Amino acid sequence: MKQLIFATNNKHKVQEVRAALQGHVEVVSLAEAGLSGEIPETADTLQGNALQKAQWVWERTHTDCFADDTGLEVDALDGAPGVYSARYAGEHCSFDDNIDKLLDALQGKTDRKADFRTVICLIESQSRKDEDSTTPRLCDFTTQFFEGRVDGQILTERHGAEGFGYDPVFMPDRFAVSFAEMPLDVKNSISHRGLAVAKLKEYLEAQ
Ligand code: IMP
Repeated sequence: MKQLIFATNNKHKVQEVRAALQGHVEVVSLAEAGLSGEIPETADTLQGNALQKAQWVWERTHTDCFADDTGLEVDALDGAPGVYSARYAGEHCSFDDNIDKLLDALQGKTDRKADFRTVICLIESQSRKDEDSTTPRLCDFTTQFFEGRVDGQILTERHGAEGFGYDPVFMPDRFAVSFAEMPLDVKNSISHRGLAVAKLKEYLEAQ
């Protein structure tokens, strides 16, 4: 089975993506790959951050890997927090700090439409793609991007204890519960990350 290192320190993301790729790809965590430390994400787009995170792993391992970056885009806040969703309430803030700030910003607003968007960057070693090449270029890599999006509403208060991040206050369209009230397989079947991972899986299966 193909192995891919997942460039994240978020255990919830590893759990979600492992479940979605089970039987198709062996998802290797950073710890299993012998890596530790904070991965930089200083770009101003989801695509830029996903590339930056995947490249951080590639530079240290020269092994096929991927990273995701996600933004919560709220209509009434002109798309904020967007690419800054992780540190919406400031550097080193908690998930709860971010939710508190979001609920404050939307206090009294009737338009609560929002979406989650995920971009995945897959890095693969070029030498594997150029199998007929006489001089393998082990330092070269290719990148592929996969995007997933889910639309929904920001609730006025927290609901549920599953998941992570903004899950307790995000209710996807056509559902009457928040992401934090859903079993993992249901969230994965409709979520931004689940949809992006499904495209990654389709790409890998077509290789
Ligand atoms: P990241 O930079 O991709 O790790 O995510 C940016 C922010 O969005 C972080 O605060 C995450 O907690 C949050 N986030 C990412 N994915 C999800 C999700 O599936 N549900 C809720 N929040 C998420």
